[in-house]
Amino acid sequence: MRRFSGDRLLIATHNAGKLEEIAALLAPFGIGVTSAADHGLPEPAETGTTFVGNARIKAHAAAQATGLPALADDSGIEVDGLDGAPGVWTADWAETPGGRDFAMAMTRTWRELEERNAPFPRTARFRCTLVLAWPDGHDEVFDGRMEGQIVWPMRGGHGHGYDPIFQPQGFDLTFAEMPPEQKNRISHRADAFRKLIDGCFA
Ligand code: IMP
Repeated sequence: MRRFSGDRLLIATHNAGKLEEIAALLAPFGIGVTSAADHGLPEPAETGTTFVGNARIKAHAAAQATGLPALADDSGIEVDGLDGAPGVWTADWAETPGGRDFAMAMTRTWRELEERNAPFPRTARFRCTLVLAWPDGHDEVFDGRMEGQIVWPMRGGHGHGYDPIFQPQGFDLTFAEMPPEQKNRISHRADAFRKLIDGCFA
């Protein structure tokens, strides 16, 4: 496993919320962050069919363009009763001409489970794959997961995306009903970052 030895890491995202979240996670290790936007990098097309494929595209494009090590992530939800869908197309299921509509995406998820008469519990997992890529082409990959089930109707007002229909294993609350600090301790993203920090930073 290659360790990261600098004091500033390029985060290959144009999403300001993601950048802030990642900056907070890395700050205790004395590592500052810069973003793809700070370096004027274009957003590469996410043409992969796997989480690791898409995260690799973003991380390597940024590392090649800047000559700096770069971190990228890709995330989504896999529903077993839908053969793993929406998976890498999790955000796409919410796209409308007027912007993202996650209530629509969650309604589609439940409707398709009903149409297939999927058995209960309707198991699913959130996944977050992190890729740290170096300019010489080397990379390290970390896969974070949270297992759970899809529930209906939607419950809770916190969080984002598909949180209102995802009930993590061992809890009676959906991700959207949990205080954000609780979700952030047990989430797929927390799992992936713990693995990254143990592997490359600690
Ligand atoms: P991306 O990683 O930015 O490509 O986004 C993937 C999509 O997965 C997001 O738009 C959300 O819809 C969904 N997603 C990822 N993580 C979460 C989460 O923690 N809660 C709810 N939805 C999520």
